[in-house]
Amino acid sequence: MKNDLLKKIGEVINSNHSFLIISHKNPDGDTIGSNFALSESLTIEGKDVISYCENDVPEDFKFLLNENINFTNKVEDFSNKKFDVTIAVDGSDKKRFSEFDSIRLSSKIIINIDHHKTNEYFGDYNYVDVDACSTASIIYDLINILNFKINLNIAKSIYTGIITDTGSFRYSNTNKRTFKIASELMEYGINAWEIAEKIYENIPYKRIRLLSEALNNLYLTANNKIAIMSVTKNTLKKYNATYEDTDGFVNYGRSIKGVELSIFIREEDNGCKLSFRSKGNIDASKLAEEFGGGGHFNAAGAFIEKPLDEVLKIINNTISSKNYIL
Ligand code: 5GP
Ligand code: MN
Repeated sequence: MKNDLLKKIGEVINSNHSFLIISHKNPDGDTIGSNFALSESLTIEGKDVISYCENDVPEDFKFLLNENINFTNKVEDFSNKKFDVTIAVDGSDKKRFSEFDSIRLSSKIIINIDHHKTNEYFGDYNYVDVDACSTASIIYDLINILNFKINLNIAKSIYTGIITDTGSFRYSNTNKRTFKIASELMEYGINAWEIAEKIYENIPYKRIRLLSEALNNLYLTANNKIAIMSVTKNTLKKYNATYEDTDGFVNYGRSIKGVELSIFIREEDNGCKLSFRSKGNIDASKLAEEFGGGGHFNAAGAFIEKPLDEVLKIINNTISSKNYIL
């Protein structure tokens, strides 16, 4: 059944020419890897493709850009254009794509490809596989169904999506298929260390300084089962940090012995970005949904349009009142 839908999406791709591939805001390795793999694959097949994300490509993933990827983070670059098909990758709802409503008007068909259990089926075609470790692994299957070429760049993009979403094959979403795809990607010349080095061994010094400050204010609550850590706007300013500089901070809380839920709060100009990571039985996506967000069982996020002190109060109230948390 699932396969039939992916085949149908393949037919839609085959019978159309102009494409816009969109990544969600605050992009991670999976949405970027999925986007670039699909963009390059369609471009090589002679399609007209624009790759878009409202934020620039994070520094960690810039190594994936190449001449076959026509990337822009400026909606004005294509606001006069009409597309046959827009493909949204790795985003569970329309809110993850701020420009979605105008993009909807400029496209005949919307395809939504994702693996989040909170997906809202906002496309004309919705391929949502919650068992897929990453959206990138679905893109790999799609390119294969289409019988389109996979080159080393495409393989690198897919591999990046897989390792960033599985914590380098550690998280519970890692399965037999994950390793099978990774092993097949090796056939295209992937060098695992080279990619790991680009993503994980290339951290700007300021990010480590910022991390040390964030770790300083980490505290445990709820019988030491919940870790909470936050970074204020001022601290971000002090280190001249971008939002992507805090990616991964939430994992430190979860790594603590006995902690079952880690919450990281980043104060931004118009509110606070929340990241949730759980281990054990806490459904992080359910908690994120309380705040209008979403995600996976063990990794989820949300945004609250309130200042940090109020958000901390809201979180404390929520964790003490919801019995599915502890
Ligand atoms: P992160 O904490 O790394 O930003 O996100 C963790 C997971 O939750 C990712 O799969 C991400 O796509 C999802 N997520 C993060 N923020 C939001 C949000 O505001 N809304 C929804 N629906 N999902 C989010
Ligand atoms: Mn993903």
